[in-house]
Amino acid sequence: MALRFYNTLTQSVEEFAPADGKTVRMYTCGPTVYNYAHIGNLRTFTFEDVLRRWLRARGYQLNHVMNITDVEDKIIRKAAEQHKSIQEYTEQYTRAFLEDTATLRLERPERLVKATEHIDDMVRAVQELEAKGFTYTTDGSVYYSIQKFPEYGKLSHNDFSGVRAGARVDVDEYEKADARDFVLWKAPKENEPFWDTPIGPGRPGWHIECSVMAMKYLGATLDIHCGGVDLIFPHHENEIAQSEAITGKPFARFWLHSEFLNIDSQKMAKSAGNFYTLRDLLAMGHTPEAVRYVLLSVPYRKKLNFTFDGLQAAATAIDRLRNFKLRLETEKFADGSNEQISARTQTALRQFEDSLDDDLNTAEALGAIFEYVRDVNTAMDSGEFRRGNVEAALDLLQRFDCIADVLRPTQKQESGLADDDVEALIAQRQQAKKARNFPRADEVRKQLQDAGIILEDTKEGTRWKRK
Ligand code: AMP
Ligand code: ZN
Repeated sequence: MALRFYNTLTQSVEEFAPADGKTVRMYTCGPTVYNYAHIGNLRTFTFEDVLRRWLRARGYQLNHVMNITDVEDKIIRKAAEQHKSIQEYTEQYTRAFLEDTATLRLERPERLVKATEHIDDMVRAVQELEAKGFTYTTDGSVYYSIQKFPEYGKLSHNDFSGVRAGARVDVDEYEKADARDFVLWKAPKENEPFWDTPIGPGRPGWHIECSVMAMKYLGATLDIHCGGVDLIFPHHENEIAQSEAITGKPFARFWLHSEFLNIDSQKMAKSAGNFYTLRDLLAMGHTPEAVRYVLLSVPYRKKLNFTFDGLQAAATAIDRLRNFKLRLETEKFADGSNEQISARTQTALRQFEDSLDDDLNTAEALGAIFEYVRDVNTAMDSGEFRRGNVEAALDLLQRFDCIADVLRPTQKQESGLADDDVEALIAQRQQAKKARNFPRADEVRKQLQDAGIILEDTKEGTRWKRK
């Protein structure tokens, strides 16, 4: 089956291939760096990471741009409260965002771009819109007149034809019922930072930022544009209005939106105060892999209800997969190959791939892998699994982990032991045992234990894993 995605623009599932058949030109709305990202934000970024990885698994190259919103109302307010420049204030949270996404193993987009480094481009875009008659200016601020763009509403599927001409808003976020002319360029209020430009002193609105940076690096028509569902309106609707008014071409072929991460049936949000950051969860002793697993385990178009039971279940699921891999790598199986198991491995791979092709159905993809693990564990117990089956099973796990990326344990900083050190200590322990120097063997075992390494002595030798 071909790769398919649900496209918010057409409200249907469509086959996907990049326009040039090779490279996917993708833009994803990045963080507003006024605070640490919470795990709701990170759910959206994890969905985008899975999307990247699956597009690559399907043979495409990527040209992915993500913005960092480092100037907007909240940032300006908070920077002023702390007597910091915008740059000083946002730098710490930009760094934290990059650290958190690396901890969660999210691949870096090919390009990360900051709004404040593209002010000239935004000014030029506002001038173009002015020249084409899409704007008006009031008190030094420039607004986009949505009546000039008859297709306004085509992404959010709202009919805005009854909207009063000239009703406008200065804030970047507003409710659906309130379709209004939106601000492209904001005149500075007292004590606010501003840029001196040919269109007057001020700063860009949030929406123009994404249109400008997306088209600058990816061209007039993107293959994919992503974000959370809360961005469909007004942000993405406004991006379309701006971009298409400038170029006269469709702005993005596919619009993919991820659903919310909820907690107690409510959207996790900074404004509601009901959020956890990744750092909170790690401080409680949870692993980055377990958080990653939770975030990717629910298909992106379904709401994800975050619970600590769910996080615990994710850790257990990862353990099962790791133990299965260890078994494949260390157990001695009888010679030969079992044809039925070869076929079973093929089926699992096909189910895994079909599920992801089906609009990234991660829950089904994980289900296929776990059923396989259960069947093969049974076959191993009964002696049906043969040495000749190992390679294909490990290959399947590897393909799975190219997307899920949860099998490798995060090195515990406090353990300080690299894999080689662990192996060397295990060899020392073996030698001590052979020499019947049991106190020394116990000492090494204790040393490994303290570093979070668990040993398991089997017929075939000593296996180990990290706690
Ligand atoms: P922000 O930093 O607020 O601009 O948001 C960054 C991204 O996180 C956007 O794509 C939002 O749509 C997304 N987002 C915000 N809250 C949630 C949530 N509770 N669940 C999933 N995505 C979210
Ligand atoms: Zn955006």
